[in-house]
Amino acid sequence: MQQLTEFTSTLTRSDLEAFWMPFTANRQFKDHPRLFVSAKDMHYTTHDGRQVLDGTAGLWCVNAGHCRSQIVEAVQTQVATLDFGPTFQMGHPGAFQLAQRLTEMAPGYDHVFFANSGSEAVDSALKIAIAYHRARGEGTRQRLIGRERGYHGVGFGGISVGGIGTNRKFFGSLLTGVDHLPHTHNLEHNAFSKGQPEWGAHLADELERLVLLHDASNIAAVIVEPVAGSTGVLIPPKGYLERLRSICDKYGILLIFDEVITGFGRLGASFAADYFDVKPDLITVAKGITNGTIPMGAVLVRQGIYDAFMHGPEHAIELFHGYTYSGHPVACAAGLATLKLYQQEGLFQRAHELSDYWEEAVHSLKGLPHVIDTRNLGLVAGIELEPIAGKPAARAFDCFLRCYERGLLIRTTGDIIALSPPLIIEKSHIDELFGLLAEVLKELP
Ligand code: PMP
Repeated sequence: MQQLTEFTSTLTRSDLEAFWMPFTANRQFKDHPRLFVSAKDMHYTTHDGRQVLDGTAGLWCVNAGHCRSQIVEAVQTQVATLDFGPTFQMGHPGAFQLAQRLTEMAPGYDHVFFANSGSEAVDSALKIAIAYHRARGEGTRQRLIGRERGYHGVGFGGISVGGIGTNRKFFGSLLTGVDHLPHTHNLEHNAFSKGQPEWGAHLADELERLVLLHDASNIAAVIVEPVAGSTGVLIPPKGYLERLRSICDKYGILLIFDEVITGFGRLGASFAADYFDVKPDLITVAKGITNGTIPMGAVLVRQGIYDAFMHGPEHAIELFHGYTYSGHPVACAAGLATLKLYQQEGLFQRAHELSDYWEEAVHSLKGLPHVIDTRNLGLVAGIELEPIAGKPAARAFDCFLRCYERGLLIRTTGDIIALSPPLIIEKSHIDELFGLLAEVLKELP
């Protein structure tokens, strides 16, 4: 703490130079730094000693609120007991326990593959899907289908199936054999929808077109976020996910839900798969799995997928894939403590119960200057602002900076504000959050 205090009280531009910050305008940031030095429950403390209400659960991960003692203690105990153990040809109890707990939370999914982030979980899921078909004698099924405006992390697999131009265009030719479904965002039909919009289920039929074009025998998997988060909270139209599922079933294509943000209660159910009652074949998770405390990702696979790999000689490795830190003991301890806390405090149910109040608060912004859409589901919201002509994303970023100055953390992507608070949020925080946001929106040029 001493070191930290010294660092922040004497902070100069050059202290900030060495760290090449991810997804950040480095030069702008380093001229006007914003540092968090501690956090508790719903709030961060900044380097200049201010409290900031966390409207984004960190980055969609701190679902149980910050620095929860049960998780902190579990991590401390684990790191002092078994700091690291290889999970190649060796094991430790925590990884087995956490995998088992996850399968109990997700009926129908009977095995878990561990990674260290959402990006790694996605790449693992894509590889498992292709290798699964091959293991069943359908090795020509290699094509992958993502969606425009999809975000699946930053691995080459993830940016290939992802549908964000800026995340793709600097990085070469990416994976071959990838197509994209159209996104479902449409303000003309669906602006200011509460919950799932009415219009757009038919957009899933584009998958049929791709099947006709490539033949199902060449297609391995479709990957979508049930609710697209990073591109601005795009809520799936009613019936859309069901339609994707039935087309995948018809043609033997695996359906992957990337639940890195929707997993662990965000929508008021354990997973979006439960909320929508649409069961994909693989589910990728990260973030909330450890309440953001220790990096971790995972792939949950439905019954039968693991079994397809379990042929061949008993001593043979069945899947040539894994990470040094797959199932890291400290991450597993954090995960076990986190899942226990979610259950003990009934946080997913709490999110469900608060979602009507949240919905009203979100839509109370309708009619304020620059607001061209408000949308919500569970404890997620997207507020879309009219872009400034010729300066895309500038208005929302201005809003972000002003909110930060007033003690509120929001996230912006393009000209969309994305909100996803910790699930421990109280109604009074919701009032505060939207009260502050409304004030800032009114003063925005
Ligand atoms: N998939 C989705 C849906 C995400 O929202 C994210 C992160 N925002 C990722 C994957 C990537 O996760 P990570 O940043 O942990 O690699």
